[in-house]
Formats: sequence, structure tokens, C-alpha cells
Amino acid sequence: MSDLEKFEKLIEGKIPLVCMLAPSFVAEFDYPDIIWKLQALGFDKVVELTFGAKMTNIYYHKIIKEDKTKTWIASPCPTLVQLIRNKYPHLIDNLIPVHSPMGCMALICKKFYPNHKYVFVGPCLTKKVEASEIGNVELALTFRELNEIINARNIRNGKKKKKTFEKFYNDYTKIYPLAGGLSDTLHYKKILKKREILVEDGIDKITQILDEMKGPKYKNYLFLDFLSCKGGCIGGPGMDATRTIDEKTERILKYREFARRDEKDLGRRGKIIHVDDIDFSRKL
Ligand code: SF4
Repeated sequence: MSDLEKFEKLIEGKIPLVCMLAPSFVAEFDYPDIIWKLQALGFDKVVELTFGAKMTNIYYHKIIKEDKTKTWIASPCPTLVQLIRNKYPHLIDNLIPVHSPMGCMALICKKFYPNHKYVFVGPCLTKKVEASEIGNVELALTFRELNEIINARNIRNGKKKKKTFEKFYNDYTKIYPLAGGLSDTLHYKKILKKREILVEDGIDKITQILDEMKGPKYKNYLFLDFLSCKGGCIGGPGMDATRTIDEKTERILKYREFARRDEKDLGRRGKIIHVDDIDFSRKL
């Protein structure tokens, strides 16, 4: 069964669905238009991954702080995880054993919406692999697939009953899909120096660095913030938008400013105390 057929089955089913929208969504879709469309499609709740990303960061911070004897490698990019598993198995222990924002948000949704099923929608093809590995996410769709569904159902607009996401957290992790977005939002100053962090995007450059990791060249770095797609997740292969990386970056930054300015006071449940009973660690 294709993922589109799986989606049709889920949306027609009796169990309500949560749509977990990747933070790069605004590089592809207009906001809040996309929320209305997702509601019109039949999603009961629409959440963004910002609170999940925050929990990823908090766990990263703790792990890096506790062990500075090795070079840690960020693990939210499943293409990078697969690359290391297949080509650099000696580096598996360097991958930070923490869920990605998608994995963390699925655990958060499980707590807040225990009677729902969770569908991730993002710019990434390999999130489908991660979703099937971690188990909580019923289905991972690409933005391109969502566009196909919206067009096939001729959805122009929703009922406009809600203008925004279910509120969990609404702030800085919105820049996560940009290259370096993770380390920029890690609040690393008390645990790492800037020169100990290496940010890189694009599979060719990353492969070149990983090839040289056994030598002395990169030994002074304590954290590698790598994303496999050029430009980060906004360059993901599951997007339709023909915008340039610069245009997509601008849309992400504008959305963050809009949310900070105009949505700051919307009710939020995204406090750490609300999720301190959840274990966000992941075996890699
Ligand atoms: S960088 Fe590309 S492959 Fe990696 S998580 Fe983002 S979209 Fe997926």
C-alpha cells in the first residue's frame, strides 16, 4: 500500500489524527492558510515541532555537558544516521542518543493526545524510515505528498475555526530547519565554545569530513551539527516549492518574527515541567 493510500485509510478511519508539521513548513506553505487546509482535510489537531525541538536541545545540552571526551554528532537527520550506520559504524557511538524533534513531539503528543494517531508531514524522504523505526508515528508524508492530497481533494480552505497551531511552544526553535539551526538554538555558551562546533550541510561535504574523522584534522571539534541536504531541511527532497534557499530562509525568519510578535501570548502548554516524565532518549 502506498503512503497516499495509507493516508486515505487513516483519514477515513475512526481514530482522530494529529498532524505534526515540520518547522520548514512555512518555506513551502502559507501560514495560517495551511492550518485551515489541514483541518479541512480532516485532521483533528495540528501541531508544530517546536516543543519537540526544544526537548531535543535540552537533552543534547545535558549529554554534551556530561561527556566532553568525544566529538558528538547531531542525530535529527535520518540520512546522516543511515550514512554513519552503513559507512562509518565506528562513529555510531558519537551520534547523540536522543530523539529528533519529530520523535520527541510524537512522545509529547502521546501524552497530551493519547487517543489520537500521529502523522508527520515534512520535507524529508528518510523521515519515513525514522518513523517506522521509532514506532509512534503512524505515517510520515512529504510536503509534496500533502500538496498532492490537497489538490486531489480540491481543498481551497478550511472552516477557519482555528487560526493557529495547538499551542505548545512558540519560539526560537522555529529556525531548526536552517543549516546550523540546531546549534544556534542550543544555548551552548556554558558548555561549548563556538570554535568547538562544526556546522555543515550537504552530503558531499559531510562525507568528506567523516572520511577524515580518524585523523587529527577535526579532533578539536566537540559537536558536529550536520544536515545532509544543502541548506538544511529547507533543501529537503520532499518539497515542491521552487523557491531558492535564500527565499526559503527569509520565509522561516519572517515567520519566527511574526510568531514572536503576534502569537506570543497564545495559551501554551509547552513547559518542561509538563513533560518531565517523558524519556526522550533514543537508541541509535
Ligand atoms: S537535512 Fe534533508 S535528509 Fe536530513 S532531515 Fe532534513 S530534509 Fe531530511
